[in-house]
Amino acid sequence: MTAYLDNAATTSVCKEAAEAAYRTMIEGFGNPSTQYSLGQQAKKQLDGDRKIIAAALGCQPKEITFTSCGTESDNWALRLGAERNHHKGRHIITTAIEHDAILQTCYQLESEGWDVTYLPPNQDGSVSLSDLEAALRPETALVSMMLVNNELGTVLPVQEAAARVKHYDRRILFHTDAVQAFLKLPFTPAKLGVDLLSISGHKIHAPKGIGALYIRAGLPLKPMILGGGQENGLRSGTEPTAQIAAFAAACELGKAQLTDTMTHLEDIKRYTLEQLHTLVPEAEQIGSGSAPHILALTLPGYKSEVLVRVLGDHGVFISAGSACHRGKASHVYEALSLSKPQRNGAFRVSFDRNTSREEIDYFVATLQYARDTLFPSMS
Ligand code: PLP
Repeated sequence: MTAYLDNAATTSVCKEAAEAAYRTMIEGFGNPSTQYSLGQQAKKQLDGDRKIIAAALGCQPKEITFTSCGTESDNWALRLGAERNHHKGRHIITTAIEHDAILQTCYQLESEGWDVTYLPPNQDGSVSLSDLEAALRPETALVSMMLVNNELGTVLPVQEAAARVKHYDRRILFHTDAVQAFLKLPFTPAKLGVDLLSISGHKIHAPKGIGALYIRAGLPLKPMILGGGQENGLRSGTEPTAQIAAFAAACELGKAQLTDTMTHLEDIKRYTLEQLHTLVPEAEQIGSGSAPHILALTLPGYKSEVLVRVLGDHGVFISAGSACHRGKASHVYEALSLSKPQRNGAFRVSFDRNTSREEIDYFVATLQYARDTLFPSMS
């Protein structure tokens, strides 16, 4: 038996997405920029796929710019958003619990003379709107706040934050990293009131190598990549039509199943907590993590890397934090005031629409085994 409980790191590619990619590679392989019928057929397919993805996000097709991944979308959103408003001033506000795609870009912008405020998280793993308001300055160019935190599953108050930022100065651009929220929670960019929003294919059962940046209609940005003028002149390069077709197929299915998926994920999360409470009561939840698919836990006194390895040896796949940390201490857990044993023993389980109660039973039984066979230390 195996239990794949690392869906926040990546999801399995659904059959519909794989078939769409295969069809596009084998039959519809033309270059959408060419004028003959094979190319025009590819262009028609691309336009249709963009419409489907836009419908899943709740925006206009022209507001979707394809990128290679969520990281790329985050990088461009910050760089181009900041650049667009640099005449206002060189100040950015973000949170201390963003993904590295945001934080590393902010560090680089700081080295180029930008001033960045990192809002600290509270004990629940969210951020305070009054801290945000206090950080706003006449020279603030851009605010970036993620919608769902990838390590804690916290849903951040993006809609209220964007409203307050726009009330302070409507010219400030607002970006949200919605990579972990897309097709897990119902939202649209317009309802959130954001100008820029990042999504990624491989978190929603599409393959790796495709993402998108929502850019609000009427917001002029400089090109990301120069060349043949694809993607409205913003990101040149022949479009990866097979990945886009797969992304669209995954979006179509994900959108149609969103309500059922949310109910299922909430049930699985509740069931996991109940089983842990009964069988491994030492396991504690970190933060209040209200997103239905992510559960941050700790087994104080145990080392999360060891837990991940032991569980992995038994076919239970969980994460010691964000997959991008590759063994480094998580800045998110560091930012919360957890005790050292809590921090050392922190790990994440994350579910998808296919996660079964049997997988949860197997995970809990394996964690029980690890607890009983490993030696805890409280230092
Ligand atoms: N933002 C968040 C919140 C994420 O969880 C991730 C991936 O884990 C990313 C951005 C990066 O997305 P990608 O893996 O598509 O580059």
